Amino acid sequence: MARIALDIDSTLHHYWDLLDEISRRRFGVELPYHEQRLWGITQLEHDQLVAAVKESHTDENIEAAEPYPGAVETVRDWHGRGHWIHVTSHRAGPTHKATARWLDRIGMPYDDLHCSSDKVARCVELGIDVLIDDSPVNLERALEAGIVAATIVHPWNAELVDSGRVTGGRDWLELRDRLEPLLND
Ligand SMILES: [Mg+2]
Repeated sequence: MARIALDIDSTLHHYWDLLDEISRRRFGVELPYHEQRLWGITQLEHDQLVAAVKESHTDENIEAAEPYPGAVETVRDWHGRGHWIHVTSHRAGPTHKATARWLDRIGMPYDDLHCSSDKVARCVELGIDVLIDDSPVNLERALEAGIVAATIVHPWNAELVDSGRVTGGRDWLELRDRLEPLLND
C-alpha cells in the first residue's frame, strides 16, 4: 500500500481562474494563466497577493470549487484499494472546517487533512510515498526527501515535468495512468 499526499489548489481543482478574477476585480491586474511560467507571482505587490489569496480561501470560495474531471474518481479508486490518503494544503489553519465540508460535498475520501505551511515536513513525518502537488518548491523538497513527486502539468511546473524527475499528467486520467506502475497494491 502507498501513502499518498494530495495538494488541493491547482491539484484537485482549477484554482487559477479564481485568483485571476480576484486580482482583476480588486487591483485591476490580470494574471494570465499561460504566462505564469514561474512559481512567484510578481505582478502584484506582496500585500496585494496576500489579500487576494486570503479572499480565494473564504469559506464560500473553498466550498464552491469544482474538482478536476477524474480527480475524485481516481482518489476513490486508490482509497478503495487500501492506499492511505493525506490531503494537505498551505491554506491557513482556520480554513480546515470549510475544506473538510468541501471534501465531503465532492465525495473525496481521505484519511487525514492538514492545512498548514509545513507541508513537506509533515509528509516526511507521516512516511508519505507520493506527493501530488503543483508547486515546484514542494516538488523539489519532496524529491530531496525521497518522496515520489507528481503533479497536474501547469505552465509553472512544466519544465520540472519535462526534466523527467517529476511525474506529470495534463489531466487526472493521464496522471492516474502514469502513477499506476508506482502504486503497488
Ligand atoms: Mg497547489
